[in-house]
Amino acid sequence: MASTLEWLECSRCRSASDARALQGLCRCGGVLLARYRLDEAARSLTRESLGGRPPTLWRYAEVLPGSAQPVSLGEGWTPLLEARFLAASVGVDQLWIKEESLNPTGSFKARGMSTAVTMARALGAKRIALPSAGNAGSAAAAYAAVAGLAVELFLPADTPAPFRLEAAAYGATLHLVDGDIVDCGMRVRAHVDSAPGWVDLSTLREPYRLEGKKTIGYEIAEQMGWDLPEVLIFPTGGGTGLVGVWKAIEEMEQLRLLQNRRRPRMVAVQAEGCAPIVRAFREGAPAATRWIDPHTYASGLRVPAAIGDQLILEAIRESKGTAIAVSDEEMAAAQLEMARGEGIFAAPEGGATLAAARKLVADGWIRAAERVVLLNTGTGLKYPRIPGLRVP
Ligand SMILES: *Cc1c(COP(=O)(O)O)cnc(C)c1O
Ligand SMILES: [Zn+2]
Repeated sequence: MASTLEWLECSRCRSASDARALQGLCRCGGVLLARYRLDEAARSLTRESLGGRPPTLWRYAEVLPGSAQPVSLGEGWTPLLEARFLAASVGVDQLWIKEESLNPTGSFKARGMSTAVTMARALGAKRIALPSAGNAGSAAAAYAAVAGLAVELFLPADTPAPFRLEAAAYGATLHLVDGDIVDCGMRVRAHVDSAPGWVDLSTLREPYRLEGKKTIGYEIAEQMGWDLPEVLIFPTGGGTGLVGVWKAIEEMEQLRLLQNRRRPRMVAVQAEGCAPIVRAFREGAPAATRWIDPHTYASGLRVPAAIGDQLILEAIRESKGTAIAVSDEEMAAAQLEMARGEGIFAAPEGGATLAAARKLVADGWIRAAERVVLLNTGTGLKYPRIPGLRVP
């Protein structure tokens, strides 16, 4: 069960970078993708071999970086819950929720930080910095604590208090920035450039957060008997969930793990107040442009510009998927429906996937017989309010 990581490929110019050194973006500005010796991996990573492996994302060690010495808090292998009440309410026969709030630090960001901090430590980093809307920051802080790395976070000044409290508890240094996450990212770059030894762990600006996130795809496949559903719905900010799972599907095909070659249709959900990917998808554009004045209470979706925009749009289009925006009111109503119907207190981003499923069934894009998986990316516990819910 050794890692078969071999090299890093630029998603834009296809040139190779060395996986034995810390890498950011390609010289051309493209996102780097981890590539493995999949023929070798396929010999030990088989359906049968997985039975006896640990219940964490590290069970897929062959196709992960740094798996000899992982920085782990037990992330991954979250439940795939069948949501019978919601299926009936939305109008499909079968609906599942991948329950990512059960990860360490309460969100799927733990997956990416486990692999990224593993590689940062393995390649000699002592200090990491990143921008965050909340969950990435607290996850980075937790894994940096385990790995013994210093961490500096740049957060929008209006990031809800529970996120800041959690990150501070783990020992992170917090900088509050007057602006959105793109402004925070610029502050991180200035910080990293001015002081040697800092590693930038921003979304898709290093290759390994994506590798942790992709394991959601391996898990859904394994949990469904290697028969992927027809539709996968992702709340989309920076897009690592969607892009990572798309990468996992391609790898699983080469590893001959899947039952059939029909791929799921990938759906990106954004907030009406910040929907750059939805806009670009509708316009048929290859890339997105920055969204001005982004607003939504789903802080993970308040990402006005994503460096992986082209990869997100490619995955949606290649899969014959779609991109859809929902309002904060629809998200809030869906959050309550998930809580009251299924006992899951989802983050607003998780609620957004249910609101999107409802719309897509209503307009016939999803048919009743198709199997749908929603990603609940995080817990609702860190958000101070749900619009419209009065609490005594
Ligand atoms: C970060 C985050 C998202 C957006 O994730 P991406 O895969 O980067 O688009 C969605 N939901 C929650 C709860 C998040 O923390
Ligand atoms: Zn390149």
